[in-house]
Amino acid sequence: MSSRLGKRQLFRTLFRALEAGGAQITCLNSENSFPREFIASFADGAFSRSIVYLWNCTYDEVNHRPRFQVTGVDSHHFLFTPGVDTFLMGYDSERQVFAVADPSRRHAGFGASPSVYIPEPTLDAAHATGMASYDNVRGETIIAVRSVLASVLFRAPQAIHEIARQSKGSLTLQALSTPTEKRPRQRARMLVSRAVRDARFPGMVLPAYDHRCAVCGMQLRFVEAAHIIPVSSGTWDDEINNGIALCVLHHRAYDSGVMLINGDYSVEVNKTRARALTQSARGAGLAEFRRGLPSQIVLPRSIIERPSPAKLDAGARLRSGR
Ligand SMILES: [Zn+2]
Repeated sequence: MSSRLGKRQLFRTLFRALEAGGAQITCLNSENSFPREFIASFADGAFSRSIVYLWNCTYDEVNHRPRFQVTGVDSHHFLFTPGVDTFLMGYDSERQVFAVADPSRRHAGFGASPSVYIPEPTLDAAHATGMASYDNVRGETIIAVRSVLASVLFRAPQAIHEIARQSKGSLTLQALSTPTEKRPRQRARMLVSRAVRDARFPGMVLPAYDHRCAVCGMQLRFVEAAHIIPVSSGTWDDEINNGIALCVLHHRAYDSGVMLINGDYSVEVNKTRARALTQSARGAGLAEFRRGLPSQIVLPRSIIERPSPAKLDAGARLRSGR
């Protein structure tokens, strides 16, 4: 469990994890508030409004189990508001895992035992595989999720809790991502599997580039994870070597084929597209745009996180039609 984080730091960790998973966070109360209330919105228009109680996971020396302790709040008066999802969460900083209690079971408060226990194997499994769950003696389902996938919870909170309840303590990321069951569960599963997919890709790509645009170096939270072989091609994948961090401007320029990135990491303006834009009186700013381009993109330090030259060439071919 190691380090205990202060409340502000805990929430900063959560928000960073959600942003890494593609969420944009709009806080509805101040840094010093507890619980925190915020809106998480996603690029495809999905959003959720949440009230989050967050504590450190600590090791209970008496019961020999990890737990998060419900403190600093009257446990009988959690905020439950229609249309707002309430989360009771613990954070294990050593494993970088968030544990989430099923909020629907907590309407009645905590009674005499204001602790939520999570077995170590569940935390270990979440750290290793991304997600795990545990059903306690009260019939309550605890979901443990690796921080890079925390945004999944905020994308489809109802669906994920429903699936966790059905799985009776054996929730795995793989089970979530495999839509096997027939309706009506299928919709929930599809929602979650898409959320997992959407969170995992930016969660891998953006940190590899230190949240900077590979072309211009801008951070400012304007940076997105772009697919090199685009999703629209039908032959794309979510491997890190099919990703590149780009600011909104360069993402748009890349996807529209105005800017090309080649297998040797060189960057250029697509001459055919540039000519067409100029001829149709839509070429203003082109000279400045070209001047702003470096000769090469900035690469992740780690070789395995770098974009695949073959995919870059394929991506350039698809975008330029050559
Ligand atoms: Zn840029």
